[in-house]
Amino acid sequence: DSRIMKIASAIRVIPDFPKPGIMFQDITTLLLEPKLFKDTIDLFVERYQGKNIAVVAGIEARGFIFGPPIALAIGAKFVPMRKPKKLPGEVISEEYSLEYGTDCIEMHVGAVQEGERALVIDDLIATGGTLAAALKLLDRVGVEVVECACLIELPELKGRDRLGARPLFVLVKAD
Ligand code: 5GP
Repeated sequence: DSRIMKIASAIRVIPDFPKPGIMFQDITTLLLEPKLFKDTIDLFVERYQGKNIAVVAGIEARGFIFGPPIALAIGAKFVPMRKPKKLPGEVISEEYSLEYGTDCIEMHVGAVQEGERALVIDDLIATGGTLAAALKLLDRVGVEVVECACLIELPELKGRDRLGARPLFVLVKAD
């Protein structure tokens, strides 16, 4: 698809952010190009419309940029999966380990119903820890995750392997 190469070249790479040695994939430059931002959303919508998906679960923070327009276009609800202590209502949480220490992802109780079909979206998969935790949380409440979707995959980190049998769809593979 000719749109994908243009999308890939609109993503800026910033070396040594947030710490030395990290090549940060910065999607904010893609958002500055309305045509390419729309192409990005359209590529996901083309894949997921008509698939009976009731829930688009977006992971904080950049899943909140791409998830809602996809949800609106396919007629699904949008559910934010947030960092701890951000959601005001009763939450269900899932902890996961980082290189140093742990992090946690939370979702409002009652946001999804058992048996609903969901798509989980984030901007990027690195080690896969974040998406794996989101999947565990959604499994616990009986949601059927049809697929995970990201704009960017860092294949060297093998995050895909942490998602088990769950399919992962990405637009761009970065090295
Ligand atoms: P993982 O849990 O797969 O190791 O890390 C993925 C999470 O970290 C995602 O929520 C993603 O937004 C963030 N992340 C890690 N590295 C990058 C990066 O280079 N660029 C962007 N935009 N996000 C990153």
